[in-house]
Amino acid sequence: MDKPYGLLAELTYSCPLQCGYCSNPLQLDDYRDELSTEEWQRVFAEAADLGVLQLHLSGGEPLQRHDIVDLVQSANQLGLYTNLITSGLGLSTRRAEQLRGAGLDHVQLSIQADEQALSDQIAGTTSFERKHVAARLVKQLGWPLTLNVVLHRQNIDRIAGILDMAQEMEADRIELANTQYAGWAGPNQAELLPSRDQLERADAAVEAARERLGERMDIIYVMPDYYSKYPKPCMDGWASRQFTVVPNGEALPCPAAHEVARGLNLPPASVREHALEWIWEQAPLFQQFRGDAWMPDPCRSCDRKDIDFGGCRCQAFALTGDAARTDPVCHLSPDHGLVEAAVVAANDPMRPRESTVIPRQQTGRTKRATAAAQGRTGRTPVALSATVLKGQA
Ligand code: SF4
Ligand code: SF4
Repeated sequence: MDKPYGLLAELTYSCPLQCGYCSNPLQLDDYRDELSTEEWQRVFAEAADLGVLQLHLSGGEPLQRHDIVDLVQSANQLGLYTNLITSGLGLSTRRAEQLRGAGLDHVQLSIQADEQALSDQIAGTTSFERKHVAARLVKQLGWPLTLNVVLHRQNIDRIAGILDMAQEMEADRIELANTQYAGWAGPNQAELLPSRDQLERADAAVEAARERLGERMDIIYVMPDYYSKYPKPCMDGWASRQFTVVPNGEALPCPAAHEVARGLNLPPASVREHALEWIWEQAPLFQQFRGDAWMPDPCRSCDRKDIDFGGCRCQAFALTGDAARTDPVCHLSPDHGLVEAAVVAANDPMRPRESTVIPRQQTGRTKRATAAAQGRTGRTPVALSATVLKGQA
């Protein structure tokens, strides 16, 4: 059995943004009993003992944790490479300097669009300018800057502008990844999946930017798998190289596996009850889809099973209700018609131009903070418009 090299620590699901593509689970309030500072520090120590090298601090918005600096410092002392994945909201100069002092190695900043109105609509709150301030801080303090952009039907036509903006921000790397339909993106799939024409224009814009920028900026572009013949090699296989710990201490083989875990009706693998080593090696949830013994046909007899591992278990569960089926993205899957129907709908010329994206709900804590901010400023956060016509994230 391989050892894990990466831990995604989802410190909290509290977040000031309300992106309709958010991969956080729909039942956000089930995760409010968050691990304490000491519990996370124990998890990091156990992860380091297990061989983990990279620690990704995410959420929700990890800067909503009051102890984020202490957590970074502990991880740094354990020799872990620390990566903060943030919306930028909450990254004040003071906080950024504290994080630098604590040894934070890298920052990934999420971007919704290159235009303020569209960016704030997608994020569901006023955030565009604050992201620019955060990007400048990251560069001033000498961190490498990676921008994360989730692409979807509402922003993919802005890809050239987003790449120009990334260049102005002096980003070292940009990850342009089409939406995976987990969490809040699931019920929003029909509103988020781009059309074929949009993808062709996006391809051309990415190629032009790569030619223009050369090695000055690393551009990663991930196509939507709904338009692929084969699924992506999800997580290099179930419980193979990485794992996730969510705010209440449950460990998952994949960041989107909340629903799979519930659907399988297996006992939760909680770091409050078990050591990470036991979870990695023995927890039923981690064992469930390791290797290829679980695979049904056509995967079982397919010569690509060591390449894509039968695709994404979470996508199979979301689309068919059975996590053990072949990923319906694969053209050989008996359920591939589900994906074909979604692609047909995304390319229907009669489709209404207006779209309605369900915004991610806020958790109780974020709702209270937002209400307090409204009381102080008299401003109402920008609600995610029911009509978002132009191109993303
Ligand atoms: S996707 Fe948006 S709402 Fe979800 S955690 Fe990230 S910033 Fe917050
Ligand atoms: S049948 Fe299974 S293993 Fe073969 S390409 Fe499709 S998903 Fe991959």
